[in-house]
Amino acid sequence: MSQAATPRKDEPGLRCPVCGCGHWRVIYTRRRSGGRLVRRRECRHCGKTVTTTEKLNGR
Ligand SMILES: [Zn+2]
Repeated sequence: MSQAATPRKDEPGLRCPVCGCGHWRVIYTRRRSGGRLVRRRECRHCGKTVTTTEKLNGR
């Protein structure tokens, strides 16, 4: 089955939509203008990559 992986806000208990594991390897972190932080993560179990966007509070 294929569930659409909707990249969400980064949350502590982020789980892989494919295999359900919660171990991620961060490939890169990028700061974008507008106070957002974009992180690309790769599932250590199945290799699924997701991109999460974090909103930075304050500065
Ligand atoms: Zn996975």
